[in-house]
Amino acid sequence: MGRLVMKFGGTSVANIDRIRNVARHVKREVDAGHNVAVVVSAMAGKTNELVGWCGDASPLHDAREYDAVVASGEQVTSGLLAIVLQGMGIQARSWQGWQIPIKTSDAHASARILEIDGSEITARFKDRQEVAVIAGFQGINPQTNRITTLGRGGSDTSAVAIAAAIRADRCDIYTDVDGVYTTDPRVVPKARRLDKIAFEDMLELASQGAKVLQVRSVELGMVHNMPVFVRSSFDKPEDIDPHGTPPGTLICSEEEIMESHVVTGIAFSKDEAQISVRQIEDKPGVAAAIFGPLAEANINVDMIVQNVSEDGKTTDLTFTVPAADYTRARDTITLAKAKIGYARLDTATDVAKVSVIGSGMRSHAGVAAQAFTALAGRNINIRAITTSEIKFSVLIDAAYTELAVRTLHTLYGLDQT
Ligand code: ADP
Ligand code: ASP
Ligand code: MG
Repeated sequence: MGRLVMKFGGTSVANIDRIRNVARHVKREVDAGHNVAVVVSAMAGKTNELVGWCGDASPLHDAREYDAVVASGEQVTSGLLAIVLQGMGIQARSWQGWQIPIKTSDAHASARILEIDGSEITARFKDRQEVAVIAGFQGINPQTNRITTLGRGGSDTSAVAIAAAIRADRCDIYTDVDGVYTTDPRVVPKARRLDKIAFEDMLELASQGAKVLQVRSVELGMVHNMPVFVRSSFDKPEDIDPHGTPPGTLICSEEEIMESHVVTGIAFSKDEAQISVRQIEDKPGVAAAIFGPLAEANINVDMIVQNVSEDGKTTDLTFTVPAADYTRARDTITLAKAKIGYARLDTATDVAKVSVIGSGMRSHAGVAAQAFTALAGRNINIRAITTSEIKFSVLIDAAYTELAVRTLHTLYGLDQT
């Protein structure tokens, strides 16, 4: 007998029919003799609606109350799934984050899980084969006793954290695609499903924009060496052999992957903004004058490029920030103008970052150079570049995102044949 965590995302629990479908997936595993903890998201679109309501109520609202509101979507689906399971004769009980409890930091709207007490859940596995249906995305801060949420997409993180806490054999992430692909299959139909992907590569894919898994869930999987299996909830539950190998992608340690390609996948993000500080003096302390205030304002700077200004004497400094922080970043730099000493600010919000990821890049030279040639061949201008050991990213005009992703996908031999 095994212990399983099964996580179902928003589209998988979008209405009562889909929740019934989820219950049949759970029944299959229970009938096969497994102990099961299920983690559910809110119904598709629900969290967006709740976030929107908070903004309508007041543009500058209290983050504690935002969490009280947006955590409610998962409360509904966990209760509904428990009701449906009970109706099928399966012993089941719903759990909110505070009831377990899932203890988190007090960083409302982006809290981190600190500790999960899995003892009650596992005791109920033993005593009465009870399925635990857990509301994803939420927890409680033990000091303030207030409900917290884990950031958008956070149910993935709830699932992996619970899997570690109850020492599950595997954490299955059921979603609306049947695995992790070489890039978003909704954008590139030729994308190929990966049978396996290393935690390191998945971490980069997720942090560069592939929203199939929340970044923190991959980090937790890596730390606890918890096998995470991404699969589709739309396959007919009864057609799946609980002891077989269904279609999907296993996220696992690098050693378990036999065949390795130089490039694993491509991610992209349109949630970027570019700020160029023009004609600053090229002297020590200028970068600190720019990035110090941004750090104090808690704004994450990603790409940074420095080059000679058009006058040939001064320097331009270009950097990117998350689109959500764009206005704050621009205002912060404007406020520090006297200290920095620049002539002009140029900004752009219609930009996108395309990232090429592969742990094979560690041992291969010239991978990025090929991309620059291919993008030039398509007349796509590169605004900024960053590289690290296993990835490189280019900043381009947002309008060319799909073309750039498809071009690079073909270039690195990732297209399905
Ligand atoms: P859920 O609601 O189940 O959590 P999400 O919408 O958060 O689902 O994540 C699944 C989506 O991630 C897919 O529908 C797909 O469009 C997108 N996606 C982006 N990049 C990838 C990728 N490399 N492989 C698979 N899906 C991806
Ligand atoms: N419902 C939350 C969201 O939409 C959490 C999740 O789906 O993972 O962000
Ligand atoms: Mg998700």
